[in-house]
Amino acid sequence: MRHIAVIGSGPAGYYSAEALQKEYGEEVRIDVIDRLPTPFGLVRSGVAPDHQSLKAVARRYEKVALSDTARFVGNVTVGRDVSIDELKSLYDAVILATGAPNDRPIDIPGHDLPGVVGSAAFVGWYNGHPEFADLDPRLDVAAAMVIGNGNVALDVARILSKTPAEFVGSDIVAHAFEALGNSDIRDIHVLGRRGPHQIAMTPKELGELGHLEAAAPRVDIEDFPPELDDALLEPGLRKSVTHLRAFAAAGEAKRKTIAFDFFAMPIAIEGEGKVERVIVERTRLTDDLRSVGTGETYAIECGLVVSCIGYTTPPIEGVPYEHGRGRFANADGVIGPGLYCVGWARRGPSGTIGTNRPDGYEVAERIKADLGPGSTRKPGRAGLDTLLESRGADVVTFRDWRRIEAAETARAREGSPREKFTIIADMLGARGD
Ligand code: NAP
Repeated sequence: MRHIAVIGSGPAGYYSAEALQKEYGEEVRIDVIDRLPTPFGLVRSGVAPDHQSLKAVARRYEKVALSDTARFVGNVTVGRDVSIDELKSLYDAVILATGAPNDRPIDIPGHDLPGVVGSAAFVGWYNGHPEFADLDPRLDVAAAMVIGNGNVALDVARILSKTPAEFVGSDIVAHAFEALGNSDIRDIHVLGRRGPHQIAMTPKELGELGHLEAAAPRVDIEDFPPELDDALLEPGLRKSVTHLRAFAAAGEAKRKTIAFDFFAMPIAIEGEGKVERVIVERTRLTDDLRSVGTGETYAIECGLVVSCIGYTTPPIEGVPYEHGRGRFANADGVIGPGLYCVGWARRGPSGTIGTNRPDGYEVAERIKADLGPGSTRKPGRAGLDTLLESRGADVVTFRDWRRIEAAETARAREGSPREKFTIIADMLGARGD
């Protein structure tokens, strides 16, 4: 028997648990610990609410969670309720699958003005993450700027531009549904510091912008290199660029506009006590495809700035950390004896949900090789339970979560799969007696 703790119940955490079950069969006990009372991390609070098919992967994680060898230990914060050293003494191996929930800061003057928010906060707000439910972003403004050319920027631009009817079938939380329904935003600028060939947007997601009810993308064909160069791109990116070219050719006008501003680097955010404009420097590409400023600047008027420029993993006391890259210092997922990391905590914030699967399988094999044959001398879950009880922790089990989930389903508005609780006390209350 082996005892293994996985910290974080998102895709990386559950793929690791699944892989450990395959490696060890009945000879393992896995505790998946999460600071929230709800499982599934980014699947619940990162994946856009209007992308329900992506959220269906939670059913696969549920199978793992419901088996006898794995347990969900929710509402327990590592570093507060239990330390990494304590976990290492209780388990044969500890896997950090804590993701990258913090915004990479946009380090330009004015970044702290009211009206500037990071994508973790904005996405957390419309997805009902308890930490960001009170964000109340400024939507009583005519224009918004989304900084970044990745899929998160696309999610944010799309959510800002959808009509209430387009949210039917989504699980966008009530506070965001109402606020977005009353939004005054008409112009959404998506700012890329490089060009159309350097976007990090995937074709399916980009293509969706061509089918919005009230918003049309606006792209300037002057920003493109010659069309023949598209053939040199890898197929996915080529498809995305084809969408951009189609948007440029359509030149469609609707009530709202999503304008792609390429070769545009934000250098300052200005305004009297709140965001009023972003100062942008025009860029050009170097031979190795980096962006450099040309010295030419202009202003874009906007009252909301959402910076979607990537995420970092929060450090944990005592765990080596790579500050430049915002993730745990590791060699192929190994941090040190008995301590491993997977997913965004290992690689940084890149790839789709499925990209985390191989990480989980690799770490499980590695752990089995490192621990070798034989059985544990560690107390495992019994030891954790004793410790958490002595500290008065209010642990949420998977069975509790299913009651919370049932309550969320029961209170859903018509056409929506669930109405999430956004306050932790309400989640805990929904467990019943
Ligand atoms: P990302 O794909 O790494 O994109 C970050 C963007 O921010 C890039 O365009 C980058 O430009 C830009 N950027 C970085 N620093 C900047 C700065 N200082 N000023 C201006 N722009 C800056 O990250 P992401 O969008 O946060 O997505 C994270 C991961 O989640 C990605 O792998 C993404 O595909 C995935 N995701 C997938 C989906 C989906 O499949 N539906 C949805 C959401 C997210 P440069 O290229 O010039 O650095």
